[in-house]
Amino acid sequence: MKRELGYQGEQSLDYYYQFLNDDFLLMHDLRLRGINQTFFQIDTLILCPQFIGIIEVKNLAGSIRFENSASQMLRKLNDVVESLPNPLIQVRRQRLQLQHFFLNQNFPSIPIKTIVAFTNPTTIIETDHNPLPNSVIRAEALPEKLENFQTSSNKNSMTSDQLIKLAHFLCQSHLPDQPSVLQTYKLNYVDIRKGVDCPFCNRPFMTRTEKNGSLYCAHCFRFSKKAHLQALEEFSVIMDKSLTNKEAREFLLIESRHTAYRMLNEWSGMLKNS
Ligand SMILES: [Zn+2]
Repeated sequence: MKRELGYQGEQSLDYYYQFLNDDFLLMHDLRLRGINQTFFQIDTLILCPQFIGIIEVKNLAGSIRFENSASQMLRKLNDVVESLPNPLIQVRRQRLQLQHFFLNQNFPSIPIKTIVAFTNPTTIIETDHNPLPNSVIRAEALPEKLENFQTSSNKNSMTSDQLIKLAHFLCQSHLPDQPSVLQTYKLNYVDIRKGVDCPFCNRPFMTRTEKNGSLYCAHCFRFSKKAHLQALEEFSVIMDKSLTNKEAREFLLIESRHTAYRMLNEWSGMLKNS
């Protein structure tokens, strides 16, 4: 029983993380907003004063073959060969996304390294050209690999204060992957009641007025300058994404592209400042 646990432990990278020196900060399953409102998720992000490391963990049985010419990764298991998503491309895409994520955030520029770690000790890893891509390793080589990265960089890119700030910022930016409200309740887009509810009497269908761009409630005769923001927030939670201009017009029941644009801008400004 004990042996089995040990074996399983070694299949997870956690076992190897304990051999790292204290410079390293680890973050697991980080999910961030990326380019064009996409999301990207990183198995393990490792931070130290010299670099940031993206680690993609693969626990695959069988034999793995990297064919560089075709950028493909083949896996052979029980005499069946299949092509799997190439983790080298995955980590490069994650690096791009992360670089984009750091744009305009006042952090010092720091090199981003990528690692694909195979955790199953029985996996055979081959390539059609030698040597194996530099970022592909077996899990047991991880501590050594990270410390090599560390010693081969000739300077620190960050102070430990900056590093901790960065880690906090990443934690705060983490967006847990929850099923959308639509999926959870098996709702259809058409089931959602459109329009803006009145914040004072809660009745639906506020209308736009020319008066300072406010919305007007025909039930309680009051004006609101903020009701559309609440509505955009709710609709984006329901849709589990940022809304397009067209969706905003449909949900808020407004016709003008420009008004929708202005409202979406106002809303995203509010998100930034919150
Ligand atoms: Zn009202």
